[in-house]
Amino acid sequence: MDIILLGPPGAGKGTQAHRIEDHHGMRQLSTGDMLRAAVKAGTPVGLKAKAVMDRGDLVSDEIVSELIDAELTAMGPETGAIFDGYPRTEAQAETLDGILSKHGRKLDHVIELEVNEDALVERITGRYTCGECGEGYHETFKQPAKEGVCDRCGSTEFKRRPDDNEETVRNRMGVYRSETAPILPGYEARGIVSRIDGMASIEDVTHAIDTILSR
Ligand code: AMP
Repeated sequence: MDIILLGPPGAGKGTQAHRIEDHHGMRQLSTGDMLRAAVKAGTPVGLKAKAVMDRGDLVSDEIVSELIDAELTAMGPETGAIFDGYPRTEAQAETLDGILSKHGRKLDHVIELEVNEDALVERITGRYTCGECGEGYHETFKQPAKEGVCDRCGSTEFKRRPDDNEETVRNRMGVYRSETAPILPGYEARGIVSRIDGMASIEDVTHAIDTILSR
């Protein structure tokens, strides 16, 4: 089974992707995570992407589609994919169809997390992740059970994203509205879109996703 998690920055896509991985044995494919890894490693892709990401703009369709294609090749057909942060433009959505059919796969669900944008700024500016496994935390909403220790993997290293500041977040939301939201009607026409209240608790959102995946 392959699914797309869709929603503006801070909607909870990454948090939910990790939970779906744990519940369903699927694999999160986050182009944002892949690009951040490339920036950290100083690869040619990372060097090209860094300034674009710092502004909250989109890197080229070609770069992200190649990253996804390579991950699917490495992953093999037996593991389901959770696309997180990809596709983000109509061109990427079209390319993804081609990549999936090349790999003998197809999209089963597009799950849109619906959210209130003003609340997202608070969510995003307070969030941080485990430096080891990527588990998401929040200063107000979700601290680790034991202070300073990741619940999921026990690491004591945490990090924040450089693009999680208010100005960049507002730009990223505008980009979501103008570039990414227009991909929804195409998926709606195929009858594979489900909408979830992304402002509900993490548990409730996971439960709603589990229900969709077990249909
Ligand atoms: P994310 O972690 O999904 O919020 O992505 C962080 C940043 O990486 C975005 O603001 C973009 O600059 C870049 N990025 C991630 N995924 C894509 C994509 N599918 N297309 C273009 N740029 C992307």
